[in-house]
Amino acid sequence: MLNVPSQSFPAPSSQQRVASGGRSKVPLKQGRSLMDWIRLTKSGKDLTGLKGRLFEVTEEELVKHNKKDDCWICIRGFVYNVSPYMEYHPGGEDELMRAAGSDGTDLFDQVHRWVNYESMLKECLVGKMAVKPAIPKGMLPKSQVTDTRAREGPISPSYDWFQTDSLITIIIYTKQKDMNLDSVIVDYQDDSFRAETIIQDYSYLIHMELFREIQEDFSVRVVANVGKIEIVLKKKEHTSWKCLGRALENHNSFTPRKDTALYYRKCQLISKEDVTHDTKLFCLMLPPSSYLQVPIGQHVYLKLTIAGTEIVKPYTPVSHSLLFKLMEPVLPNDKYIYFLIKIYPAGLFTPELDHLQIGDFVSVSSPEGNFKISQFQELEDLFLLAAGTGFTPMVKILNYALTNIPSLRKVKLMFFNKTEDDIIWRSQLENLAFKDKRCEVEFVLSAPTSGWNGKQGHISPALLSEFLKRSSDKSKVLICICGPTPFTEQGIRLLHDLNFSKDEIHSFTA
Ligand code: FAD
Ligand code: NAP
Repeated sequence: MLNVPSQSFPAPSSQQRVASGGRSKVPLKQGRSLMDWIRLTKSGKDLTGLKGRLFEVTEEELVKHNKKDDCWICIRGFVYNVSPYMEYHPGGEDELMRAAGSDGTDLFDQVHRWVNYESMLKECLVGKMAVKPAIPKGMLPKSQVTDTRAREGPISPSYDWFQTDSLITIIIYTKQKDMNLDSVIVDYQDDSFRAETIIQDYSYLIHMELFREIQEDFSVRVVANVGKIEIVLKKKEHTSWKCLGRALENHNSFTPRKDTALYYRKCQLISKEDVTHDTKLFCLMLPPSSYLQVPIGQHVYLKLTIAGTEIVKPYTPVSHSLLFKLMEPVLPNDKYIYFLIKIYPAGLFTPELDHLQIGDFVSVSSPEGNFKISQFQELEDLFLLAAGTGFTPMVKILNYALTNIPSLRKVKLMFFNKTEDDIIWRSQLENLAFKDKRCEVEFVLSAPTSGWNGKQGHISPALLSEFLKRSSDKSKVLICICGPTPFTEQGIRLLHDLNFSKDEIHSFTA
C-alpha cells in the first residue's frame, strides 16, 4: 500500500516536522515525501546523469560539484549526486548544501547516523573516492591527529580463549568495574561470530569466522568486580580447535561507538496486542544465536524493506508490563523485546509494521542512547514528563526506579495526551500509583471530552511549578522528558526557567 500525502504535510506529529536534536525541519512541497522519493528512485530515471556508470572520484573533482543543481557529497568513501534529492530532504536544501562538494560523513553522523543512506541514495551513486597515496612517515595529517586523540578514552580490553572437549570459552578482560550483562551483545549468524562489548562511549569488537561450527545457544556471564566477561560456546563436534578462527572486519578493535556502523539481526514477531485505539504492544523474539539486552533509556532501530528500499526508524523497548512484579514472569527478557508503537495510518513505517503477520521478521539494531544508570545514584525525587509515545522510555525507568533505588522517596509522572482514549496503560499506571505510595501519576489532556475533570492543556510554567515539588530543599532530583521534539524543547526551557540545572534534566531524543 502506498501512502497518499495529505494537504497538511508534515502533520503536527510528524517526525518530518522537526528533527532529532532540536534541528528544525522545513515543510516539504506536495509530492516530496519519503515515499515520493522512493517512487522516483524506482522509476528508472537516470538520477546521476551518468547513465549508470560509476567513477573513481578525486578530491579535486568532488569540490567542483558544489552547487544546488550539481551537488556531490561523499559519505564514508562513496560519492552521491544529491541534487535530485534536494527537494525531498526533510532537513531542507540548505542543510544538504553544507556538505556540497565535500566529505559530509561527520555532518551526516551528527544528525542521522542511523538513516540508511546506502539504500535511500543508491540511485544517486556516482562512485568511490579515489584512494589517496600513502603519507610519508612523520607527516600525519590534521584529521588523523584528532582521530588519535579521540581514541584517548578507556583502556582497550583484550581477550583470550580456552577449550574443553565440548566447550569454547572466550574471556574479555575489560579492565572496568561497572560491567553489566547489558554491556555485551553477541551474534552468531552467516558464519560470523560477533561479540561487542560497550565500555562508556566505546565498542570493543571480537569478530571472527570460527574454526568449527558451534551450537546456536550460548551463555554470557559477567564477573562485575573484575570486569571480566565470559562467553561460553558449545562445540557442534567434540574435536580440538587449533585456533579460535579467522579474524573478520574490525576484529579486536576498540572504537568510539559513533564511528561504528549499526549492526542488525532478524527478529521474529511473536505477538501484537492492542493497547489503545492506535497503539500496540509488539513482542519480537531475538534469534537463538543472539544475545542482547537493551539498557534502560536506550532505543534500537527497526528496519523494514518498504517498496524495495530499506527504511529505518527508532523505537524504545519497554518491559512487557508496568506491574511485572505482581504478575507471573511471562518470558525471559534476554530473548524477547517489547515495543509500544503508535500506528500512524498515513505514516511510512508503522502501517508496514502493523501489516506484519505473526512469524514475520523485522531487523533490530544494537541499542543506542545516552541515558546512564548512574544518573539514578542517590536519587530522591524522580519526575517524568511524557507526551504520547514519549512515555516509552519512562516504562523501564519506572520499573527500575521503584525496585532498585533505595534512596528514592517519590516518582511522579505527568503524562500529556490528546484524549483519555490515547493514554497508554492508564489502568496499569493507576494501579501502580495505588500500590506504591512513592508513585504519583497525573494525566493532562489537550483535547479532552466534556466529562474530563482532570488537568487540561499543554506543558506550561503553571503546570510544572505545581508538579515539580522537591521532597526536601536539597533533595537529589532527576527530571526525564520525552515526547514530540517541540514539546521536549519547550519543557527543557521551562525547567531551566524553574532553576533546574542541566544535570537534573535528561531529555530523550534520537
Ligand atoms: P511518518 O511517515 O514519520 O509520519 C508520521 C506522521 O506524519 C503521520 O501522522 C503521518 O500521517 C504524517 N505524514 C507523513 N508523511 C506525510 C505526508 N507526506 N503528508 C502528510 N502527512 C504526512 N514511536 C513509537 O510509537 N514508539 C516508540 O517506542 C518510539 N520510540 C522512539 C525513539 C526515538 C529515539 C525517536 C526519535 C522516535 C521514537 N518513536 C517511537 C517515533 C518513531 O521513530 C517514528 O517516528 C514513528 O513511528 C512514525 O513513523 P512512521 O514512518 O509510521 O510515520
Ligand atoms: P501526540 O499524541 O501527537 O501528542 C501527545 C501530547 O503532546 C498531546 O497532548 C499534544 O497536544 C502534545 N503536544 C504535541 N506537540 C506539542 C508541542 N509542540 N508543545 C506542547 N505540547 C505538544 O504524540 P505522539 O503522536 O504519540 O508522538 C510522540 C512523539 O514522541 C513522537 O514525535 C516520537 O518521535 C517521540 N518519541 C521520542 C522518543 C525518544 O526517545 N526520543 C521516544 C518515543 C517517542 P496536541 O493535542 O496539541 O497535539
